[in-house]
Amino acid sequence: MKTIIEPFRIKSVEPIRMTTRDERKSLIKDNHYNLFSLKSDDVLIDLLTDSGTGAMSSNQWAAIMRGDESYAGSPSFLHFEAAVRNLMPFTYILPTHQGRAAEAILFSIYGGKGKNIPNNTHFDTTRGNIEATGARAHDLVIDEGRDPTNEHPFKGNMNLDKLEAYLAEHKDSVPCVMMTITNNAGGGQPVSLENIRAVAAIAKKHGKPFIIDGCRFAENAWFIKLREPGQADRSITDIVRDCFTCADGMTMSAKKDGFANIGGWLALNDSDIADLARAKLIQTEGFPTYGGMAGRDLEAIAQGLSEIVDEDYLRYRIRTNAYISEKLDAMGIPVVKPAGGHAVFVDARKWLSHIPPLSYPGHALAVALYEIGGIRSCEIGTVMFGRQPDGTEQPAAMDLVRMAFPRRTYTQSHADYLIESFEELVPLKDRLKGFKITEEPKLMRHFTCHFAPLG
Ligand SMILES: *Cc1c(COP(=O)(O)O)cnc(C)c1O
Repeated sequence: MKTIIEPFRIKSVEPIRMTTRDERKSLIKDNHYNLFSLKSDDVLIDLLTDSGTGAMSSNQWAAIMRGDESYAGSPSFLHFEAAVRNLMPFTYILPTHQGRAAEAILFSIYGGKGKNIPNNTHFDTTRGNIEATGARAHDLVIDEGRDPTNEHPFKGNMNLDKLEAYLAEHKDSVPCVMMTITNNAGGGQPVSLENIRAVAAIAKKHGKPFIIDGCRFAENAWFIKLREPGQADRSITDIVRDCFTCADGMTMSAKKDGFANIGGWLALNDSDIADLARAKLIQTEGFPTYGGMAGRDLEAIAQGLSEIVDEDYLRYRIRTNAYISEKLDAMGIPVVKPAGGHAVFVDARKWLSHIPPLSYPGHALAVALYEIGGIRSCEIGTVMFGRQPDGTEQPAAMDLVRMAFPRRTYTQSHADYLIESFEELVPLKDRLKGFKITEEPKLMRHFTCHFAPLG
């Protein structure tokens, strides 16, 4: 069959409140043109993020009822720990309330002034947590990963020569080597198993712990199965295990491929580092058998991890993005190719080439999509990454607009409506104007800054 159906039925629904284009124009203005400030009731299709926004299964809801809320030694922790370890064989697994809490704990140990931390591409919270300690974060993705039109199958790969040169240059100031799978900020692009192993080997040679940011490990494994020679006949679980066996630790947001609405973890093999991390966990999150979560959240994640590796789910998940991406491409809209795992990315710098990067073309497109279709997307570009630690502003590597799909939440007609919104936008796009930022906080400004449209 050509049609890949949603591999689930819907048992419980949430109504969408319909709005008009005029209503949305005044709503976004009232919110200083920041899409994060909108009430979600004022959004028709919310593609701001795939983080914690997915639908849980009936078995996850059943698991919620089994959650044991004992302060210490909850069986729910043991279920959670076993489910994580089944996929990621780490010695110490510390539950946190989100991925960023795991990052904050990790960099309270590895960060600090004068430290340098490489990654294929740091996600914004990772970069934020590193820079908050005074350390510096560097992105060493392969050049193909920075070219939105390049069809390389693993555009999230680390540039191995650059990593070698980086470690030779920064030597003792590098506390660990990181790798993000899939590469969220770089377009949701996968990393090959071969590249993960090569990075692990380089880190080991230089005596550096290798830490994977594993938020979308199952989507990454699906791409490995589809695209990497020799992997087609292997199970997703086996591929996932191979990815993590060569790492010394991981950070995770269970709001992504944990299929949960909240949660995360930090996993480590080194007992000294784990001791420091556990002390910090107790100080900032909670006792080590619940960390930042309730017992029921631990159960939801344990069940979610058994569902996320399902191949029918992953086939449908990845196909949704490819379908939208192909339709936009056929309309002449520059999309990042090939389609990423969790999202479709439009190259706004290219499509709105009349708006210079420092006038935020990605933001201009995101605002227009909201006004026209009630669709909430997210700029991943100069608004997010343009502010430098020294206070200056520079264009980001790319100005993308990300439409991230909550897991198991929207249907085919939502996808078709999104495509139609772009059709409406095509004749208007040359008249879109840029923006300036009128108010911003010091770190991670995109969440709260205020914008004003330019002339
Ligand atoms: C979401 C995300 C994080 C942070 O996780 P939260 O649960 O949102 O704190 C870190 N890295 C990547 C790649 C992510 O996508």
